[in-house]
Amino acid sequence: MKDAAPTTAPETFYLKDYKPFGFEVEAVELTFKLAPNSTRVLSKIRFSPKKNAADPRFFLHGEALKLISAKIDGAPVTPDLVEGGLSCETPDTPFTWEAEVEIDPAANTALEGLYMSSGMYCTQCEAEGFRKITYYPDRPDVMSTFSVRIEGNETVLLSNGNPTGAGEGWAEWHDPWPKPAYLFALVAGDLVNHPDRFTTRSGKDVELNIWVRPGDEGKCAFGMEALKKSMKWDEDVYGREYDLDIFNIVAVDDFNMGAMENKGLNIFNSSCVLASPETSTDANFERIEAIIAHEYFHNWTGNRITCRDWFQLCLKEGLTVFRDAQFTADMRSEPVKRIEDVIALRARQFPEDNGPLAHPPRPEQFQEINNFYTATVYEKGAEVIGMLKRVVGDDNYAAALDLYFQRHDGQACTIEDWLKVFEDATGRDLSQFKLWYSQAGTPRVQVSEDYADGAYTLTFEQSTPPTPGQPDKAPRVIPLAVGLLSPNGDEVRATDVLELTEAKQSFTFDGLAAKPVPSILREFSAPVILKRETSNAERAFLLAHDTDPFNRWEAGNALATETRVTMVVEGAAPDAAYLDALETLVRDDTLDPAFRALVLSPPSQSEIAQTLHDRGVTPDPQKIYDAAETFAQTLAQQLETSLPRLYAATTVDGPYQPDAHGAGLRALNGRILSLLTRLDGGEQAARQYQAADNMTQQYAALAALMKAENGETQSQAFFDQWQGDRLVMDKWFALQVACAAPETAAAVASKLTDHALFDMKNPNRFRAVMGALAGNHAGFHHASGAGYQLLAENLIALDSLNPQTTARMCAAFQTWKRYDSARQALIRVELERILATEDLSRDTHEMVSRILQG
Ligand SMILES: [Zn+2]
Repeated sequence: MKDAAPTTAPETFYLKDYKPFGFEVEAVELTFKLAPNSTRVLSKIRFSPKKNAADPRFFLHGEALKLISAKIDGAPVTPDLVEGGLSCETPDTPFTWEAEVEIDPAANTALEGLYMSSGMYCTQCEAEGFRKITYYPDRPDVMSTFSVRIEGNETVLLSNGNPTGAGEGWAEWHDPWPKPAYLFALVAGDLVNHPDRFTTRSGKDVELNIWVRPGDEGKCAFGMEALKKSMKWDEDVYGREYDLDIFNIVAVDDFNMGAMENKGLNIFNSSCVLASPETSTDANFERIEAIIAHEYFHNWTGNRITCRDWFQLCLKEGLTVFRDAQFTADMRSEPVKRIEDVIALRARQFPEDNGPLAHPPRPEQFQEINNFYTATVYEKGAEVIGMLKRVVGDDNYAAALDLYFQRHDGQACTIEDWLKVFEDATGRDLSQFKLWYSQAGTPRVQVSEDYADGAYTLTFEQSTPPTPGQPDKAPRVIPLAVGLLSPNGDEVRATDVLELTEAKQSFTFDGLAAKPVPSILREFSAPVILKRETSNAERAFLLAHDTDPFNRWEAGNALATETRVTMVVEGAAPDAAYLDALETLVRDDTLDPAFRALVLSPPSQSEIAQTLHDRGVTPDPQKIYDAAETFAQTLAQQLETSLPRLYAATTVDGPYQPDAHGAGLRALNGRILSLLTRLDGGEQAARQYQAADNMTQQYAALAALMKAENGETQSQAFFDQWQGDRLVMDKWFALQVACAAPETAAAVASKLTDHALFDMKNPNRFRAVMGALAGNHAGFHHASGAGYQLLAENLIALDSLNPQTTARMCAAFQTWKRYDSARQALIRVELERILATEDLSRDTHEMVSRILQG
């Protein structure tokens, strides 16, 4: 199946046009007769017309369906088949709609609706996939109970809710909780399970299963523990209990997203659930724990309370990302999680917010909703919740959430409903705060200071650059967590949250014996860009003394950025004071190893490019790459005498455990190994590769060796060992492109697309190669344009198979206006080539048009 190609400009949908559906859906009964190329879906739906409906039309969405028959109250009808669905004359009183359609799951490479993956049937309906299964009002504000019968030869037949009957070749399910169609799911396959049980705090016994293909059952235990921890945590922290007799998770190899929170039947990209020490890195384990929690938490924030329309997507996603971040902070380390999240926000959301794809967390228009599953909706959406909590306080946040669950359970809600709950719980007017949901762009906060007679004044000026469709913006509510340090390093003022509400505002602190050093935006209390005249000496002071771990890391990050920028712009040598500060930190055994690993991780080359661009310097990707190499080499030489001792001291003894402490030590150990490899050519890395009994260390050693262009033997050995494991092979594909030198990256990626194990239809494998190419900054932006050309060619080829993944990966071009005119010209050619492709999908058409126009 393929999206309908736009013959004229694709239709645009607007938030302001919202109208409720004119009918209640009282109950849905579905029967699936499974066959790879000719599955029959029978639907029996009880509709009841609403009185005085704003839109009384009976319109059911439907795409790529073959209508076999339709009936109303048992009598055959002939509906009007139109683009995107059907309409039909209906009675004024409640009636039963029946339809039989035929679909072709085996030919469905778009992975939306019902499709096949490695011989199993599975579904993905969010956002608008259910309309590829049968005719239905496929919109989140239409909620109903679903009863499902599945007929098929597979050993395992699953749907939402509780099982109500099963026999040879059939199974029946009933979901008592009304839900929108996007939460529908069906799985049929010859699967095996990893079972467990959980007793809720009110004593309800719940059956838990993780279903996988035979051979993967040994990789489920960690995910199951994560699920049970999530269930317990949501009871303890949010008072939310699970509400069915059974909770199923299924691992699927071909999946566009990470995972999907279908009611009682979560479907996961296998990369986000399968884990074992031999095949998964520490980063994989942490991500799996977080995604299992995220999807589970959706049961309340998303499923029991859902979104009225897709413009409200951040209502469920922002809140659930915020909740899963709280969970990870509780399970692991709060400061480390915060730093990791800010690194990700700056890497993914800031470029979006400051480029042609900028949009508010609640967009007001779209052509293809799949293009709005973005870092802005998810990660900035979560930042907005964090600010709201900071502004109202923890107790008020808890009270507002209780009210939210009590007031809106079973409803499809809006951002207005969400904020009203906080207003009612706190008595506070949040109309200005709401601008965070309607305005795009990252606010800049310019800081100036004044000190006289013991009084220290901080003055803040906020502004937000123009974004598409939003030239001017009003001041927002910005919570700034600020502490003050005395010149000797003591904290003289603990953290205070200053609330910025005006374009320019001053705050004065009295009774200070000396001019303090300010620590501003502690914990990264708002997603803004802070601008302040400061010195490397002051940054080094904060790196050494700040009591806020986030700002301590931030000071180091700022020093790293300044050093890199000076190296690129002035051709300077790495800053000696910064190298000394790093050496002190890395040797400080009192500091959390995970924190030290983060301090040792340089800002990304893309971030340096953005910083240069912000300062009016056109970034040269090759120079940025060279500076990064020079810096790492100089740091390795500076640490030469201590590296072997540090390497030994951070090597974890005993059997591998994926806990936070061990992961932190291994992260630091990996950083040290990469520096060591610059000096010994890979001797230690080769030994580690040989001895490693877990993927984290095997992978770190291979990466270090490949970066040193001395890893061919190990790369071949890795391939021989793991060629039968799809997820490990994704790592192998990605690593070759990620480690390639700028001048060879495109050629390496191109060669890999010819590899026997490259499969364009598998999103994980496609992303492994093409995502790694886009992430190899100097390689992708090599002056030859080979990187741009290769990505464009592959996106064009993928578009006819999988529009959703194609469109999403077009974002690799979103920063194109940063670069010089020659590179811009090369990129424009590729973007225009994509746009000129015959039968281009609506998804990709919208993305490329926005990138070109911005
Ligand atoms: Zn989600």
